[in-house]
Amino acid sequence: MNINSIWNATLNSLKTQVSSLSYDLWINTLEPIDVIDGVLYLSTTSANAKNRVLSLHGEQIKQSVKALTDEIKDFVVLDPYEKDEYFEKLKFEQERSLAQSQKVNNFNKKYTFDNFVVGNSNKYVFAAAVGVAEHPGKINPLFIYGGTGLGKTHLLHAIGNYLEEHNPELNVLYVTCEKFVNDYIESMKNGGNHYNSKFREKYRNVDVLMVDDIQIISKHTGTQEEFFHTFNDLYQNNKQIIIVSDRPPKEIPTLQERLVSRFSMGFIQDIQTPDFETRVAILQKKAENEKYIVNKDVINYIAENFDTNIRELEGILGKVHFYACLHMKEVADLEDVMESLKDHVTSTKQNLTTDRIIDCVCRYFNVSRTEILGKKKNKEIVEPRQICMYIIVEMLALPLTSVGQIFGGKDHTTVIHAREKVADLIKNNNRIKIAVEDIKSMASRQ
Ligand code: ADP
Ligand code: MG
Repeated sequence: MNINSIWNATLNSLKTQVSSLSYDLWINTLEPIDVIDGVLYLSTTSANAKNRVLSLHGEQIKQSVKALTDEIKDFVVLDPYEKDEYFEKLKFEQERSLAQSQKVNNFNKKYTFDNFVVGNSNKYVFAAAVGVAEHPGKINPLFIYGGTGLGKTHLLHAIGNYLEEHNPELNVLYVTCEKFVNDYIESMKNGGNHYNSKFREKYRNVDVLMVDDIQIISKHTGTQEEFFHTFNDLYQNNKQIIIVSDRPPKEIPTLQERLVSRFSMGFIQDIQTPDFETRVAILQKKAENEKYIVNKDVINYIAENFDTNIRELEGILGKVHFYACLHMKEVADLEDVMESLKDHVTSTKQNLTTDRIIDCVCRYFNVSRTEILGKKKNKEIVEPRQICMYIIVEMLALPLTSVGQIFGGKDHTTVIHAREKVADLIKNNNRIKIAVEDIKSMASRQ
């Protein structure tokens, strides 16, 4: 039974129970509004009418409704003031549930603050991200920049996850810049008058706006214009804006000066490539999270040889784990690393180049290839050998273990030692500095 038919049936029943004057004055002026949790809401014309109907006919109304249906256990009469209040509240709740249902963010649950390994390279950006998550609107805007695969997107999701947990009433929107551009273009296509469009509703109705990879906006002048207005609107309303880019605002080509200055109003923080210890910690955490069982050497080896991009670091770890699984091993060891990374490190081109560097070193120091690759320990051979290792590592970025293998199966720690020693000599010994420079330019000329 819908509310109107319930009420009409109730009226018919009441008509037979009360005088026609009373019916016309107090009962027929009631209007059904809603049924919530078994309670029928009725409205009337004044506070006085409410009092009268309740005192004169309250019990009759209640019994008549209850006799009709089990769905209704009670009723409430609202005077005009209460009725307005009721509709206000209803509207507020509807808007809120609409906003909740429009929340399109599916923050990646793996990208949390807890899962983010903090080291020297990212401690400031981490602190800024946590600060923004704890006090949205305080540091505004927060602009984060840095190279690819260094954890920028991870931090945005971490902010989102944190806010979802601690401030679920906030409307938090994460978009890639590409999505922002596409939404804008779409809104222009659909009638052009985007001032009233869904686009504005979506982007101006947020408490926190995060835009990832903003550098893409440089190609889209129209979108820059719109972003400028979105930014101002949110900023003036003290809404938090977080922007991520691969470079600082000033270096984004063709970015309008007024956007550069807006982006620079709050806090700009870069994220750098992690140092060795942080890389090891990231790999350990990843292995732990993914339940990979890997040897400590494996972690050290990967951390030593891949030092620019954490995404790549993780990819390699996954590959090594996969390789070990294929060979039914419970624990991935160094052998798995060497095998699974074969393609990364020993292309023909690299072999050719390695040979070329060895040749140049031999000619420069007048030693033979057999000597330089052999085991002799006299200074005349050891020095060129260490320089040779240093240059190969420097120029070709080969994994240290592969370099050790070229030199008669030496351990990677020998290569590390050679690299450090030569790096030291370059600083303090002009003869060596010149030798390294000359050999490098010889090798790259040939
Ligand atoms: P970006 O957005 O800077 O290109 P991402 O945030 O996509 O990089 O990070 C790439 C991968 O590296 C993700 O899997 C991320 O979880 C991981 N990662 C990056 N930095 C860290 C860190 N400090 N601790 C743990 N994982 C990290
Ligand atoms: Mg990213």
